[in-house]
Amino acid sequence: MSDIVVVGSLNMDMVVNVPHIPAVGETLLATDIHHYAGGKGANQAVAAARLGAKVSMIGRVGKDKNGELLLKNLRDNNIDVSGMEIDEDMSGTAFINVDPLGDNNIVVYPGANNKITIDQIERHRSIIENSKICILQLEIPYNVVKYVVDLCYEKGVKVIFNPAPALEGIEDELIKKTYILVPNETELAMMSGKIEFIMDNIEDLSRKVYSRGCENLIVTLGNKGSLYVKDGCLKYFESKKVKAVDTTAAGDSFVGGLAVGLVEGKSIEESIKFATFVSALAVTKNGAQDSLPNRLEVEEFIN
Ligand code: ADP
Repeated sequence: MSDIVVVGSLNMDMVVNVPHIPAVGETLLATDIHHYAGGKGANQAVAAARLGAKVSMIGRVGKDKNGELLLKNLRDNNIDVSGMEIDEDMSGTAFINVDPLGDNNIVVYPGANNKITIDQIERHRSIIENSKICILQLEIPYNVVKYVVDLCYEKGVKVIFNPAPALEGIEDELIKKTYILVPNETELAMMSGKIEFIMDNIEDLSRKVYSRGCENLIVTLGNKGSLYVKDGCLKYFESKKVKAVDTTAAGDSFVGGLAVGLVEGKSIEESIKFATFVSALAVTKNGAQDSLPNRLEVEEFIN
């Protein structure tokens, strides 16, 4: 039995260092290449597991070398993989070009992530039913996300829903069955029906999304921290002052930290404070999963 189950994506991130971001039709020689385990689902699972929670992951990888590496990475992080399945399609792969200034562009091939079905969820429903918290994002098919939210609602499993990447058309019914909705600013704007993002409007946008039927809404605001909305009250949680070097997976570490706080019996506000420490540490290191702190590092930072 796990504290937390993550139903979501796994990607192999292929990071290619290039002299500049290639133009249309241009062929470039890269100066370096690295591969890292990533994908929002896997990042959030690893974030929670490093903080000491018992975590299961339900997802799908390809019948390829990357699939093996992605599964090994979960096991190495003490994550239960009994809900993972192998697909004929390739493992999810992100192609990331990074120039010397650190600017990038990214192309993601979802591959096996897109092949998760309701049947797979049914095969592993006991993992979900026996968890305290289920974490979901949007890098797997929307109908599967909806099905899992319904199942959790029926069984009393609390859902943390990170609606990332931003998607149009998320239904109110799904929002209403979610215990905590955790969008960043872009995702919040999308859920409010506003594609363009206006910072001054963050409180209005938050109220608008909350009124769609949220039980709890936490908007992450990058280096400005986060905003918790509950019953018409808005409360800001300032970020911790750190020297940020790479904000990749900041949101994923926040979601992982939030879930771990909750399974340990902390209130939502206390869990946000914990997640704020976790995510601040994550931005002080390069990489996605490489930057996710362990429990000891977080405790030392807090004290
Ligand atoms: P996402 O990665 O999903 O876009 P955010 O950028 O909003 O998420 O970051 C998530 C959380 O990470 C924030 O709420 C904040 O607590 C923390 N965080 C992000 N950037 C910084 C920073 N520069 N310094 C300290 N904390 C940060």
